[in-house]
Amino acid sequence: MDNLFFLEAKCKKCGKVFYPRYDLGADDSWVLTYGQKELPVGQKAAGAGGPGFNISKRRTGPQYKCPWCGNTDFVHCGRCGKITCHESGSENFTCAHCGNSGKITGTISGDDMKGMVKSSGSGQ
Ligand SMILES: [Zn+2]
Ligand SMILES: [Zn+2]
Repeated sequence: MDNLFFLEAKCKKCGKVFYPRYDLGADDSWVLTYGQKELPVGQKAAGAGGPGFNISKRRTGPQYKCPWCGNTDFVHCGRCGKITCHESGSENFTCAHCGNSGKITGTISGDDMKGMVKSSGSGQ
């Protein structure tokens, strides 16, 4: 198993793609370390579904932020399933992929990325 992986996300403010990076920490939990504008050569993004192995233990590192706008959080869209950067603490969310918007519901939990924060989806 690799000791790092990348997700693929979009910046809410400018719509550009970036790659949240997780590193396996010394305590065996996955740490969200950096938002990178480009993938390193040879790396593939795992996509919004997660990397396919157990990442139930995870946390966000203090240095993590969106590389385009500096947002320190991201949200998993309840409609299209993709990830968009997000201001930490803000209740309202707009998906940069499909335009879905609404209040954030739920929390990030579970063994994969499927249980992440979702939008209730008032747009249609
Ligand atoms: Zn951003
Ligand atoms: Zn969406």
